[in-house]
Amino acid sequence: MNLNTPLKLAGRIYKMYSGRLEKLEIFKIEDFLYYLPFRYDDFSLISKVAEVQAGEIVTIHGQVLSIENIFTKRFKKITKATIADSSGSIEVVWYNQTFLTKYIHVNDNLSLSGKAETFNNKTVLTSPDYELISQALTSTSHDINENNLHTGRLVPIYPETKGVSSKWLRKQIFIFLNEFRHELIDFIPDSLLKKYSFPTLQNAIYQIHFPKNLFEAQKARERLAYNELFLLQLKSRQRKLDWQEATIGYSFSTSKFQKNIDSFRKSLPFTLTDSQTKSIDEILYDLTKDKPMNRLLQGDVGSGKTVVGAFAMYLAYLNGYQSVLMAPTEILAQQHYETIKQFLEPFGLTIALATGSKKVGFKTQDSRNKNRGSKITHKPDFINHKSSFNVLIGTHAILSSKIQFDKLGLVIIDEQQRFGVEQRSTIREKGINPHFLTMTATPIPRTVALTMYGDLDISYLSELPKNRKRIKTWLVPVEKRKSAYEWIRKQIKDFHSQIFIVCPFIEESESMQTVKAAKVEFERLKMEVFPDLRLAMLHGKQKAKEKEQVLTDFKKHQFDILVATPVVEVGIDIPNTTVIIIEAAERFGLSQLHQMRGRVGRGEKQSYCLLFTETQSIQSIMRLKALETKHIGADLAELDLRLRGPGDIFGTAQSGLPKLKAANFSDFNLIQKTKADAEILFDNLSNFPILEKKVKEITLSKVSPD
Ligand code: ADP
Ligand code: MG
Repeated sequence: MNLNTPLKLAGRIYKMYSGRLEKLEIFKIEDFLYYLPFRYDDFSLISKVAEVQAGEIVTIHGQVLSIENIFTKRFKKITKATIADSSGSIEVVWYNQTFLTKYIHVNDNLSLSGKAETFNNKTVLTSPDYELISQALTSTSHDINENNLHTGRLVPIYPETKGVSSKWLRKQIFIFLNEFRHELIDFIPDSLLKKYSFPTLQNAIYQIHFPKNLFEAQKARERLAYNELFLLQLKSRQRKLDWQEATIGYSFSTSKFQKNIDSFRKSLPFTLTDSQTKSIDEILYDLTKDKPMNRLLQGDVGSGKTVVGAFAMYLAYLNGYQSVLMAPTEILAQQHYETIKQFLEPFGLTIALATGSKKVGFKTQDSRNKNRGSKITHKPDFINHKSSFNVLIGTHAILSSKIQFDKLGLVIIDEQQRFGVEQRSTIREKGINPHFLTMTATPIPRTVALTMYGDLDISYLSELPKNRKRIKTWLVPVEKRKSAYEWIRKQIKDFHSQIFIVCPFIEESESMQTVKAAKVEFERLKMEVFPDLRLAMLHGKQKAKEKEQVLTDFKKHQFDILVATPVVEVGIDIPNTTVIIIEAAERFGLSQLHQMRGRVGRGEKQSYCLLFTETQSIQSIMRLKALETKHIGADLAELDLRLRGPGDIFGTAQSGLPKLKAANFSDFNLIQKTKADAEILFDNLSNFPILEKKVKEITLSKVSPD
């Protein structure tokens, strides 16, 4: 066995536990070593029994004088023991752990850590952690062995999952640390370790689990956080270099086509916002350069990113190049297809759609297309008509090797956090260094931009179109739910509004379990709450055709209420929908909630967002309340980052961000340090082969689950 041995091959017990451990992202032995505690209990002071005071957290060492199970009148099961050391004796109780009498016997020596309390004027140690110790162990020993891991020291506490306790993890980690720690190879150059007085990797890993004191733990954590961010910085440098090396981009002309662009602008049914105009300028300027553009367009939901993308596609077309627009879900691809057709078909462009369920080039919809010689409809294979479209819109089905292009000059990716950063290279290889624009509603805090997007230029849409009203947002506790339902009925009956209801979020990726729960909720709403209204349902496991049908019908106002799972989340544009209800709101990050809220408020009418929650946690309630007053995605993202970490900003399963174990995306100082160090070291990276290999190994992405 070694660090790379998968759990399933590491012995019977690990094989048995592997399912649970995978939930903790422990797949192989090494992952145990990197499974970090989130805090420590300080059991380091061993008290004399006679000196224990009620209210204290203490560790005592002593001998068992008596132990027995007692069943009280109220059917409580108590295990009661008396423990003595040279100074005196103390009573210990555990609740509902009658099995303890099988393990602990009279005359055993125990180490006990826990809280002392007063009962009937007596000081009692209640439900302490315990460990059998050998008599030889003196009460001042700092030596650590398998028998004194859990008491009498700084004890690491790990995130647990059902069937995997902190105590169990602690023991495994200790065993593996001793057996395999020496296999860890340090990849940070000595000069940097010296610069920060960091411990070696082997020591850091040991000390973060079993530190002598909190200072040692802190230093170990800093070292491991440095590892993570430093590697990310190097990776980001690497990507930037790769991008720059692709020097031959297509330089588009804008001056030749200024008139066309102006008339396209004039054809729009609205005036562009200032920040749309600015972003378009930035993008069109990038396109004139012979280095491929690599730009991120960030803007809140509803800020109008699509039309900005349309300008870029139009310019590509004018210069004789094809464009691709890639969306994370079929519904969005479909919606983009409709929108882009409206925008660009009148200017002579042929728009095609490719999704998982539609391996069809494009449908010729009107005579203009037919006149342009696009005779092929419903051909399942792109190779046969690869130049017959100017713009191809689709899901990641576009990544399929079957799809090829004649002259791919521009790639636009919508909601890019759903696509891995690395995945971009697959699509990029379909052209010769096409320009790249990624669009996202996910606000990106400065620190994260510095770490993850060092290789990108960013344009911001910092305002919503002028005709929008602020979405009124309320937190609705359980006791107000009934009246909320009545209010909704009134909105539907009196104002002919339409409503989104988002079902509770159960898991990261939408499994059958989520769908099942959603169906139950749907039935409840339909039968019990709104039997007089027309309800439809949308979830990720429906066939694309079915989803489209539901949305089309909903758009046509054949339903009043659309019940949907959270996965169906971004970008849906149905202006008559003015109320969104989000169930179990506390399970989402603020940015996610903000993005979901953006599904309404698309038209002129006042829109509302009702956050349903049953949480009693003051913290959760305060967090959610922020949505009532804050309406700018970036503000909410900063708050998320501080309160809950980056996973929530970027969605969960779809996050393109790596999971940080020791580091924190809000640690601006360390991010700057690692960035500076990486910049200096990068040019000589080849002198550090272990580090170089490590950088190569990082992958930053997962494939979208859609
Ligand atoms: P998002 O940034 O969320 O992708 P969309 O591109 O879907 O936003 O735009 C949302 C809606 O706003 C669309 O119906 C679009 O036509 C409209 N829109 C875009 N820009 C403007 C504008 N400047 N003024 C008014 N409406 C606009
Ligand atoms: Mg959009």
